[in-house]
Amino acid sequence: MKIFCIGKNYADHAKEMNSEVPTKPMVFMKPSTALLPDNKPFYHPDFSNNVHYEVEVVLKIKKNGRAIEPKFAMDYFEEIGLGIDFTARDIQAECKKKGHPWEVAKAFDNSAAMGKFLSVEGKDLSALEFHLTKNGEIVQKGNTKDLIYDFPTIISYISNIFTIKINDLIMTGTPAGVGPVTIGDILEGYLDGEKMFSCEVK
Ligand code: MG
Repeated sequence: MKIFCIGKNYADHAKEMNSEVPTKPMVFMKPSTALLPDNKPFYHPDFSNNVHYEVEVVLKIKKNGRAIEPKFAMDYFEEIGLGIDFTARDIQAECKKKGHPWEVAKAFDNSAAMGKFLSVEGKDLSALEFHLTKNGEIVQKGNTKDLIYDFPTIISYISNIFTIKINDLIMTGTPAGVGPVTIGDILEGYLDGEKMFSCEVK
C-alpha cells in the first residue's frame, strides 16, 4: 500500500505558501508506515518544532490500474475519507531552500492521519464541503469544487506514472488555513457534514 499526495491543489493554499499554482498535478508519496488510522493519537515528532496540519479529502483505491483514462477514473474508488497530511514545515522549508527531496518533512511515521471512510454513492463529489477544527474552532474550510485538478484528472495523471493498487490512498490537497499543532490539541475533520476523524496531538 502506498499513499499518493497532491500538493498545491487549491489556489488559496498555493497563495498562502507564496507558491505558483502548478501547471500539472504535483505528486509526492508517503510510505505505508506513514498511515495513522482509526483516530489514533499523533505523537509530535521531536525532530521538528513546527508541525502543521493540512486537512485533505482522501480517495481509497479499490482496484489495480495503470494508464487510466479520466473518463474511467471514477470506477477506481468507491470510498472517500478525510485525513491530515502532517508536515514538518521547518524541515520542509530547509529542503525547499536546498532543492532537496522533502520526504523527511512529509513522509515520516504517522504523518497521514485518517478516520473512517464513506461510500461515494449518492454524493456529488464535485462539490463536497469539508472542514477541520482545532480545539473546537474551524481552522480550515474547503470544497472539492475548488480543486485545481479534479479526481479523474489526478487518478489518470498518477496512473500514467505509477501503477495504482487496491487500498492505495490518494490525499487530494489542502485548502488555505494550514497551521501549527501543539501537544494537547484536538483536531477533528468533517466531510459533507459528517464527523470523519478525531486526532489528539500527544
Ligand atoms: Mg498536503
